[in-house]
Parts: sequence; C-alpha cells; structure tokens
Amino acid sequence: MSLSSQPHTFRLTPADYGHLVEQATVAPEHYWERESRRLNWSTTPGQAHCTERGWFPGGVLNASVNCLDRHLETRGDQNALVWQAEETDRVVTFTYRTLHERVCRMANVLREQGVQTGDRVAIHLPSVPEGLIAMLACARIGAIHVVLFGGFSPEAIADRLSDSGAVLVITANMGRRGPKRIPFKTTLDAALDLRPEALAVRHVLVVSVTQDDVDLTAGRDLWLTPLLDAASADCAAQDMPASAPLFLLYTSGSTGKPKGIVHGTGGYLVWASYTHELVFDHQEGDIFWCTADIGWITGHTYGVYGPLLNGGTILLFEGMPSYPGPGRWWSVIQDHKVTTFYTSPTAIRALMREGDEVVQRHDLSSLRVLGTVGEPISQEAWSWFNDHVGGGRCAFVDTWWQTESGGIMISPVPGAVREKPASATLPLPGVHPVLLDERGAPKEGATEGVLCLRGSWPGRALTIWNDAALFERTYLQSYPGYYFTGDGARRDEDGYYWITGRVDDVINVSGHRIGSAEIEDALATELAIAESAAIGVPHDLKGQGIVVYLVPRDNAPEDLHIRAAKAITSKVGRYAAPERIHVVPDLPKTRSGKSVRRLLRKIACGETEGFGDLSTLADPEIVATLIALIQVPK
Ligand code: ATP
Ligand code: MG
Repeated sequence: MSLSSQPHTFRLTPADYGHLVEQATVAPEHYWERESRRLNWSTTPGQAHCTERGWFPGGVLNASVNCLDRHLETRGDQNALVWQAEETDRVVTFTYRTLHERVCRMANVLREQGVQTGDRVAIHLPSVPEGLIAMLACARIGAIHVVLFGGFSPEAIADRLSDSGAVLVITANMGRRGPKRIPFKTTLDAALDLRPEALAVRHVLVVSVTQDDVDLTAGRDLWLTPLLDAASADCAAQDMPASAPLFLLYTSGSTGKPKGIVHGTGGYLVWASYTHELVFDHQEGDIFWCTADIGWITGHTYGVYGPLLNGGTILLFEGMPSYPGPGRWWSVIQDHKVTTFYTSPTAIRALMREGDEVVQRHDLSSLRVLGTVGEPISQEAWSWFNDHVGGGRCAFVDTWWQTESGGIMISPVPGAVREKPASATLPLPGVHPVLLDERGAPKEGATEGVLCLRGSWPGRALTIWNDAALFERTYLQSYPGYYFTGDGARRDEDGYYWITGRVDDVINVSGHRIGSAEIEDALATELAIAESAAIGVPHDLKGQGIVVYLVPRDNAPEDLHIRAAKAITSKVGRYAAPERIHVVPDLPKTRSGKSVRRLLRKIACGETEGFGDLSTLADPEIVATLIALIQVPK
C-alpha cells in the first residue's frame, strides 16, 4: 500500500521522521535529553545516556504523577479509562480526576496494609479497572508491581510469588470469561497453599467482580471495597530515582522457564511515552484499545503507561472476542469509536475464521491505526486485517519488541514509513539493529542473521530479578558488544526487517537456513489450514530435516498433506520440502497464544520425557496427546 492511499493526517511526514533518525544518530545524548522532557521530574536527570546506574542517572520522579497528576489541570474531566464490561449495556468511565482519586485511595490502602517502598505487590485480576488502578497505586508509593496473568495455574502463580517475594496480592473473587466463571480467589488460595514456606505474602485483598461469595482467611484476606471507601483520597507520591524498579514481569515462557524482567522508572516511562506517540500516531481525542491482558508487557506499556503518559483515553474490555456472539470485538470498536486498535496475530487468525461478513456488519470507520505484536504475522493475516478491518484506510504497524525491550523497537511509523505487508519495517529513531553471522560478525546490506542491537535505549530492562548474572549471560554476553534478542531476521534491499522467528527455531537444511515463520507463512495461504508450526529434526544427509505440524480447519480435504507440501515447495523452495507432516488437533501454546516449538521438536524426535517447565502452557495436556498421536519413524 502506498502512503497516499491513506486519507488520514498523521503527525509525522517522511521528512520529519528522517530528521528524528538523524538527530538520534548524530547527537544521541541531546536527543534523549529532549525526549526525557516528556516527563515531569522532581529532579532533572544529570545525564541522558545509559550508565552503570541505568538511564537518566540523578533523575527523580514518580510514575503515577506522570500518568495522572500532571494532566489534572488541562484534562481533569477528559476520560482516562473507559471500561466496557462483559454486558453490552455496562460501561464505566473514569476521568483523569476520578482515576487519580481511585489510585490515591488504593495507594493509601496499600500503605495501611504495611506495604513499603521497594516491596513487591502481586496483581492477579481479570480485565477490570482495578488492575490498572492497582498498578498505578503501587507506582505512587514506590512499590514494585508484579502482574500475574489471570489464566495461570496455581503452580505458575506460586513460582512467580516465591521468585518475586511479593508481600501482598490483589485478586478477585471471580473473573468472567463469556458464560464461564473463573475462580481467581480459589486459584490463588491453592497457589498460597502449595509451598507456604517459600512465600512472603502477608495480605490478600479481594476485588468483588461478581456477586459470588468466597472464603476469606482470617488475618490474611480482606475485601477491597470497604477499605477503599474508608481510605483518604489524598496520597502524597513517593519520589523515586530514575533507576528504581517500577515493576517486574515474567516473560511469556516460549523458550523455557520465564524470566523475571525488571524495568526501571525513568527510562521505561520515557520509552513508553515516546513509542506510544510515535508508533500509534497519538493525537488528541484518540481512543486507544490494546487487547493484551495486563499480565503481558504489551498490556503494561500500551494498555496502561503509554496512553496515560500522553494524556490519551484507554479502552479496556472485560470480555472475549466472540461472546455472546461472533463480532463482539467489532461491536466494541463501533460503539466506542476506537481510533487505534492493537492486537496479536493469534487473535487475528481466530477472528479470520469467523468469516468476512461478521466484520462487514459493523461500522469500523473510526479506526485510524491498526497494530499487531507477539509473533510474525503472515501476509495472509496482514492483508485480511488491513483490508477487512481497516478497510484499506488505516496505517498498519507490525511492531517487533519483547518484554526486555520495554516498548516497541522496530515498526512502521504512520505517515512516515511505507509499509510492506508482514514486515516490521524499520527501527524507530534511536534503535540500532544489526544482523550477525554465527561467529558474531556484523553482516551488511540485504542479508539474514541473528538480530542484535547496538548500544542501549531508554526502555531496556535493568536486569533479571534475583539473577543479574543470567541477564548478563543471556543478553549481553552471547554476542559480546551487542544486546542479543534471541530472534533472527532478514534485511531487504530497502533496509526493512523481516523477523524470521527465534534463532533456536531456525532450521538448517543442507546449508539453507530457513526461519520457522517462512514455512508457516507459506502454509497460511492454504485455506484449509487453521494453524501450523515448522521445526527441524536431525537428518543424516541434510543436517536437519523439516517436520510440519498442521491444525486443519473443519471440513479440510483428505489430501491436506499434499497441498501443504506443495504450498511450501512453491513458496519457499524445493529444498524446504518437509520430511514429515503431522495433522494434529492443536499446538502446544503459551498462555499468550504463541506456539512452543521447543516441545514440538522434542515430540518429533520421539522423546517422551524431559519437557521442562510446562507451567506456561495454556493446555499442558496437549503434550501427552501429541506424543500418543505421532508416529516417529525409527
Ligand atoms: P520467553 O522469553 O520466556 O521465551 P517470549 O519471548 O515469547 O517468551 P515475550 O517477551 O512476550 O516473551 O515475546 C517477545 C518475542 O515475541 C520476541 O522476541 C519475538 O520472538 C516475538 N515477537 C514479538 N513481536 C513480534 C513481531 N512483530 N514479529 C515477529 N515476532 C515478534
Ligand atoms: Mg523472549
């Protein structure tokens, strides 16, 4: 799509963008000093680059003041948060003023419960306003929030509670997922009972999301509402050094045991504000909807911090994409006149399956920017989202980043960077990707390699909680002199980046290096295939051979194997012809919806044990199902 076919007026022109890139490259310290002025500092930082003490040393600030207080004068009556409940007719809005008041009350409750600056507070809630309020309340008193995804098992929760040393947990009596009730409190109780000796949790505060009663343990558990009602609406904010941890958050666990990534205050907030404005073309009056749960980094940076720092309006939806019927998400966009819609390829794949008519029944003309994150998006899904949801009128930002980067790193900028379907396109101004060969030497021009980053950026994580050495080893020592992302990428003749998947997932067939995403992208063009995953297994002659897992759609034809093999050889090349194709009911996925290829590799090799940490899987049972189903040739 050319830029001129987009009727919207975007903030930046290609020339403006070029200036930013130049300034960030030529005079980075000056550039980041200027960007740091996006925030209100109690003490202005002395330096605007990365030091031993992180970014912006000497700076002192408070995150909740930056998200709320400083907007009160100019936009106190503007909506900060619009919450659409599961029921169509239930909407709760918070202006900047009312949100500020709620956050102050919650912060006072935390203090009354003995939470001190630097303590960890776990937040285990469904998509209700209290999640965001609790995050900002922690920030207000300098406590470190640890958001736990609502779908975690008791084991997964207990692991994260013990690793983080959380002293207090905020949970709900129940969550709602369509017609189902999710027993948040009971799940948390089970987690707390698993290994109490390893936990520091003293108090549990319970939000009543539904009318259901739950058991409260005397001396430990309290209902939150009466405490909030009794608390003062004034709460002085705690000044924090720029390098103080704002939160810790565990990665999705696609590659193994999740890591407790620690983000600081000053650098992270600059990055959240900078990238939210740039990538989503933030403008006055925007309604920003990020569908990610606050349990993931996307829900932190773009579901909470970025939009509030920039004085925007957040839409938060409690429910599911297709409840009570298909097209619910589209109704939400229509009803709330959402301008900016940020979601994941995995959600788009599911919505595509509902058919185009469902989308067409809705008026989505308020949309201006569409975004995706989390996985490579196939050209098929990109085009469907762009044409059917965006009506071909919207900017499309395929954003590449990770928990560790704090915010978006490689992405189109609306109006300024020409899109190519399924490419994350160019690094943001101030981000310097490099592609390395296996020995760590940089490769120039149009090429493919290991994606690393040169230099630092304000959003970079400080460390891994309890394991600074692991942070150094994983990200800084794998390719000395660079930050190692774990991903592979291709760079084309225009300098555009195409993420090919995780480096561990690259398959080397007779010297041809093939990214899992390339094969899966080819398979996505075959309509009868709902999802696929490609992995490599040892092969005597070729080094590695390709094994493909396919999840068929309903009524898929009998010869699906043949069609799939043809799609791969015609779109990728004959060298990529798979050794085996397994048709399976589902793939092992993380709770954030990503395929876990390390497990598929083991299963394809005939292994039946030693699968490691399965706590991050949405459905751990699938592993046994696949082992039973798959015949591995001897
Ligand atoms: P873990 O680090 O625990 O194995 P994870 O890497 O899935 O889990 P996240 O930090 O949530 O945890 O995900 C970041 C990763 O997601 C990136 O490193 C990349 O592999 C993938 N990713 C994110 N955005 C994109 C994108 N736009 N295109 C391709 N891949 C993406
Ligand atoms: Mg990762």
